[in-house]
Amino acid sequence: MVDVIVIGGGSAGCVAASTYARAGASVLIIEAGPTFAPSTTESWPTDLTNARRMPIGPESPYIDPISARTTGDQHVVATRGRVLGGSGAVNGAYFVRAPLSDFDTWPQDLWNRDTVTRYYNCIETDHDFGRLDHHGSTGPVPVTRAITAPVAQAFLQAGIASGHRHLDDLNAPTAGDGIGAVPSNVRHGRRISMAEAYLSPVADKITIRGRSQVARLLFDGDTVLGVTGRDDDGTFVVHADRVVLAAGAVRTPNLLLHSGIGPAGTLRRVGIPVRQHLPGVGVGVADHPEITIDYQPRRAPDDRGTPLQVVLHSGPIEIRPYTASFDRLIPGLSPMLPAIGVAHMTPDARGTIDVVSDDPFSAPNVEHRYGETEEDRTALSRGIDLATDILRASGLASDIHVPAGIGATTPLGGSLHTMGTARMGFDDDPLAVVDLTGRVRGARGLSVVDASMFPAPVSRGPHATVVMAAQRLVDAAISSH
Ligand SMILES: Cc1cc2nc3c(=O)[nH]c(=O)nc-3n(C[C@H](O)[C@H](O)[C@H](O)COP(=O)(O)OP(=O)(O)OC[C@H]3O[C@@H](n4cnc5c(N)ncnc54)[C@H](O)[C@@H]3O)c2cc1C
Repeated sequence: MVDVIVIGGGSAGCVAASTYARAGASVLIIEAGPTFAPSTTESWPTDLTNARRMPIGPESPYIDPISARTTGDQHVVATRGRVLGGSGAVNGAYFVRAPLSDFDTWPQDLWNRDTVTRYYNCIETDHDFGRLDHHGSTGPVPVTRAITAPVAQAFLQAGIASGHRHLDDLNAPTAGDGIGAVPSNVRHGRRISMAEAYLSPVADKITIRGRSQVARLLFDGDTVLGVTGRDDDGTFVVHADRVVLAAGAVRTPNLLLHSGIGPAGTLRRVGIPVRQHLPGVGVGVADHPEITIDYQPRRAPDDRGTPLQVVLHSGPIEIRPYTASFDRLIPGLSPMLPAIGVAHMTPDARGTIDVVSDDPFSAPNVEHRYGETEEDRTALSRGIDLATDILRASGLASDIHVPAGIGATTPLGGSLHTMGTARMGFDDDPLAVVDLTGRVRGARGLSVVDASMFPAPVSRGPHATVVMAAQRLVDAAISSH
């Protein structure tokens, strides 16, 4: 028996575990993937800490490769991190704040602009701008910027020469449209996951159980009692006063569904007994659809630094000049051409996460429905034109393979930015899954703190917002006790 079980030692789970432990609670993290002693970060595998690479190739021991339908009959592997640190331990280390206007549609009791800024500040130590009011200088996550790769340098110059505003600081509240250096959770070439940032200082106060997959939540009436799952030794059961769901935006709704919390019709269809009819579980899945433009490079690759060092924001579009081809950035992929990514950051597309059987270890059915509206297709097409123009002006490419329009057969990918799958909302919102403090409606002692709870999607990479939001929610939960 512990005070708090945190399901999933990913980005939000590490923040939650650390914060409860500092408040004096006994905390157990149950993590499906491998774990490492947070107190001795020197011994962590370098393929996790090397910020130049993303260890998400087909043979990676750190991933949960889930098939997702993007559009038409097209499927992609929608990888999530499955390791202590979660997706944030294997990601591109792009740690950018969302524009404050994104939070105007979040419940203002918790997420007004001043509070959001204060919380973004408190999670970071910005090594470039920490002295300014709108930045932090004492938080656990180091934030740095470095443009070292020739691709990034050439794209930046070409973007500025094409008339785009140069932004010194993409995390400034006034940033808006323009081109600039990517803020990264990287220090001296090391990707600092939230496991390192948040757990290392409290390692002796937390128990971590690795390679253990939670199958279901256990209840007595409407009160959560603990969890059951399986590990290498078989089935386990652990009890706690409070259970915090932080299994990520795909597995958190999946766990709720397998525990009988979700749309009653869906649950009955696969034979899961209904505990609580919450029609919003697994509904409204958001991401940032991305299409890549391959090009024949003029120069041999030189991928110094992180995979993404510069981005251009223009209205709903983010253009990502990756510093090298994906086979160089992701170990285990076959050789391919380098590419520029064009991502739609405010799409209409909303998908679903569904269960296909009553087996809690079966993979969920994930549907994104990218590019189904005219507006989404038009936005991406404009983004392709914009990226192609700058790529031509940069002199990086001898030949550019421009995708022909956006249609049902276009190979659209996601950004792996899944969010809003068990969203927060007011009591009168039928699709709200958690209340304004992150508690699952109708279930005592159970809360959601990960990217699932986003009340509305954000228009930038979500990692910094996941961390900020988890800190805000857990602080609010502790102070309301
Ligand atoms: C490859 C990749 C690249 C990305 N790049 C960027 C980027 O550069 N910038 C950015 O802003 N965002 C990026 N993202 C998104 C960002 O990393 C995520 O939004 C963020 O890390 C999500 O945090 P989370 O806590 O919600 O979930 P996660 O960090 O995914 O944590 C979930 C954890 O729960 C564990 N878990 C799941 N199910 C169970 C279970 N049943 N029992 C026990 N444990 C379980 C998982 O193993 C995992 O460790 C990327 C994501 C991926 C996958």
